[in-house]
Amino acid sequence: MPPRTQVAIIGAGPAGLMLGALLARHGIASVILEARSRTYIEHRIRAGVLEQGTIDAMDEAGAGARMHQQGLVHEGTILRFGGRSHRIDFRALTGKAVMIYSQHELVRDLVAVRIAAGDPLELEVEDVTLDGIETRKPCVRFRRAGQPHELACDFIAGCDGFHGVSRAAIPADRLRVFEHDYPFGWLGILADVAPSSPELVYAHHDRGFALLSMRSPSVSRLYLQCAPDEDLAAWSDDRIWSELAIRLGADDFTLATGPITQRSVTPMRSFVAEPMRHGRLFLAGDAAHIVPPTGAKGLNLAIADVRLLAEALAAFYGRGDATLLDAYSELCLRRVWKVERFSAWMTQLLHRHDAPPGAELGHRLQLAELDYVTSSHAAATTLAENYVGLPLR
Ligand SMILES: Cc1cc2nc3c(=O)[nH]c(=O)nc-3n(C[C@H](O)[C@H](O)[C@H](O)COP(=O)(O)OP(=O)(O)OC[C@H]3O[C@@H](n4cnc5c(N)ncnc54)[C@H](O)[C@@H]3O)c2cc1C
Repeated sequence: MPPRTQVAIIGAGPAGLMLGALLARHGIASVILEARSRTYIEHRIRAGVLEQGTIDAMDEAGAGARMHQQGLVHEGTILRFGGRSHRIDFRALTGKAVMIYSQHELVRDLVAVRIAAGDPLELEVEDVTLDGIETRKPCVRFRRAGQPHELACDFIAGCDGFHGVSRAAIPADRLRVFEHDYPFGWLGILADVAPSSPELVYAHHDRGFALLSMRSPSVSRLYLQCAPDEDLAAWSDDRIWSELAIRLGADDFTLATGPITQRSVTPMRSFVAEPMRHGRLFLAGDAAHIVPPTGAKGLNLAIADVRLLAEALAAFYGRGDATLLDAYSELCLRRVWKVERFSAWMTQLLHRHDAPPGAELGHRLQLAELDYVTSSHAAATTLAENYVGLPLR
């Protein structure tokens, strides 16, 4: 008999690790299978804005202590256009705030909780395949250190990101995919310099979008709109800083510079795969959907999925009630599409769109919309309500 568990989780990103932690709280056994090493997953630089729902999930998982010590609470954000700053006050408009805390720190905290509890986390596994997902006895096969392994389970959670194997295990004729690749990307840097603004600055500029963000009081994270296949070699440190200074420029603002410690180009995509369940396989996070990062939603959406999935599995194991499992895909997708809408809207609003015809008209319409968003209480509330996070359902 192969080893068995209740839930086999593929992927130790935020979705997989959080699902494992929430299931453990309900006494549900899981095994997490991850292709990469612990060092790799704990140092992968990605998102950094947490909604309240994500903060609550970290607390529920017993992993929130360091986040509360080191996270930076942000009660608003700045929209900058025409060289002027306009603050959106999240707290006043919604009563809520967000927290700045790096995704890789969140991953570190969740890995630490799992290892302290002695729950299985199989790292550096290879050749993961899913079998029997349309039966009541699915199983996952994989190799570790060259040796074949098999894991029997009740359910499989596909938390293995956009390029994972889980989504591909669903027959193509049962899956509907919606996608759009944007004609631009983000050149992102991490720099050892104190953030030049206490809150994030989203800048709309004739030369393209720029974002000033941060990871801690001494580390800045900044982005420039660029081509999706931008050649990083063409960007010296001086060129990056001077372009950021131009696009983020305002009368009352000086951009502090410092050593750049990491740089990358990220293409931008909107993507949704429906349904998020097939038989005994449940997709969660980037395995099922991708948003452009402008709304700071990718990580939060992944956590929202697994909060619902953990609740559904707890109802199944605790009361024999499969209602929530049956509703999982529909419940998630209702929220996913709203978050996709918000992320696409923020992207459309703030980026330079060069494709003729109508590029100049589009540019002026953006400025009018930015003016509206920053001068209408109703429009500012709409932005704030989406930014701090929509209810789980
Ligand atoms: C470069 C980059 C920058 C980003 N910046 C932002 C941002 O600023 N703001 C924002 O909100 N979002 C951002 N995102 C998106 C956000 O980071 C993701 O939405 C989030 O990581 C989703 O979590 P996940 O657990 O679903 O997937 P992932 O974090 O992708 O985790 C999936 C895990 O599965 C593992 N895996 C993959 N295939 C297999 C396999 N076959 N077998 C076993 N394991 C496997 C992977 O190694 C990985 O550890 C960014 C994403 C990228 C790529």
